[in-house]
Amino acid sequence: MALQRVLNIGTQLISRKFHISQPSSKAVIIDGKKISKQIQSELKASVDSWVLAGNRRPKLVAVLVGNNEASKLYVKKKCVTAESIGIDSETITMCEDTSQDDLIRVVEELNHDHSIDGVLVQLPLPNNIVEREICSAVAPAKDVDGFHLANMGRLCLGDRGIVPATALAVRELISRSNIETKGKNAVVIGRSKHVGLPIALLLQGDGKGQVGALDMTTTICHRYTPHEELKKYTQLADVVISAVGIPRLLTKDMIKPGACVIDVAINRELVNGKWKLTGDVDFNEVAEVAGHITPVPGGVGPMTVIMLMKNTLEVSQKRPQQLIYEVGKELEDTGRKLLNKYN
Ligand code: ADP
Repeated sequence: MALQRVLNIGTQLISRKFHISQPSSKAVIIDGKKISKQIQSELKASVDSWVLAGNRRPKLVAVLVGNNEASKLYVKKKCVTAESIGIDSETITMCEDTSQDDLIRVVEELNHDHSIDGVLVQLPLPNNIVEREICSAVAPAKDVDGFHLANMGRLCLGDRGIVPATALAVRELISRSNIETKGKNAVVIGRSKHVGLPIALLLQGDGKGQVGALDMTTTICHRYTPHEELKKYTQLADVVISAVGIPRLLTKDMIKPGACVIDVAINRELVNGKWKLTGDVDFNEVAEVAGHITPVPGGVGPMTVIMLMKNTLEVSQKRPQQLIYEVGKELEDTGRKLLNKYN
C-alpha cells in the first residue's frame, strides 16, 4: 500500500514536471466531411473508368414536391455532389397540391425511361400523399433511396439489395473509424422506417450475409421508451446512434466511457438570434466521455449524400443486366399472349 502511494505520488510529480498528459478524456471526432471527400474521389475514379469503358454516364433524377425549404436544399446538395463525381442529374419540381396519382404517373415515366439509372422522391411529401405508396412506386432496380418494399425486405433478410443511404453512412463511419462491433452492444434511438429502423437492421444483421451487417446486439428505443429506461440502455452501449430530432437528448451521464456516439439528427435551433444546426447529442459534454463522436453538421449528413451516390453508381452498373432481364420478360409476356390468342 505504502509503496503504491509513493509510486502514485512519484508519477504525479513526474507528469507535472514533464507535462506528461494523462489519457485524454476528449473523444476522437469522426470527421464525416473528410471521410466523404475520400469516398467522393474513390467514386469519381469508378465513374470515370465506367464511362471510359464505353458505358453510358450514370444519371440520377430527383423529384421534389412542394415548397419545403430544407428539401430544396437537400436536393440541390445531392445534384451538386452527383455532378462533382461525374453523375448526370436532373430535378423534376412539382407543386404543393400535386395529387398522388399525378406523382405516381411521373415516377412511372421515370421508371420506364432507359436513360435514367436512379430515381428518388424527396421526403417528406405533402400531407395528401401517402409516402409509402410513392416509395414503392419507384422501380426497385432504380430505387437509390432503398425505400421500396422489395429493398427493405432484402435488408431485413440480409440479402443484397439497395440499402438506405443513412444506414450505409452510419456503417461506413463506424467501420472507417475501426470501431469494434461484433458481439458488442448498440442502441438506436428512433425507429422511423427510413432512418432508425434501417440503421438498426444493418447493425444487428449477420456479418456473413450479403449486406455487410455488423453483428451487434442491438436495442431500438423510441418515443415510448421512458427517459430513465433509455438511460439504462445507452449506459450499456458500445455504440449509440441517435435519430430522434430532440436537441440535447443525449447527455454525458448517459454514455459509457469510450463508447462511439453517432448523431444522425439535424435540428435547427435559434441560438442568440442565429439559426444553428445541432444534433440530438450534447456534443461538448458527451465528447468528454465518449471514445468517438460525430459532429453536427459535418458528420452523418455529408456521408449520407455520398452513400446515395454510391447507390446510384451501383444501380447504373447493374442496368445492362437489368435491361436484358426486362426485355426478356417483355418478350415472354408477348409470347404468352400470342399463344393464348391462338390456343
Ligand atoms: P426521422 O425520419 O428523422 O427518423 P421521425 O420524426 O420520423 O424522424 O422519427 C423520430 C423518431 O424518434 C421516432 O422513432 C420516435 O419514436 C423517436 N423519438 C421521439 N422522441 C423520443 C424520445 N424522447 N426518446 C426516444 N425516442 C424518441
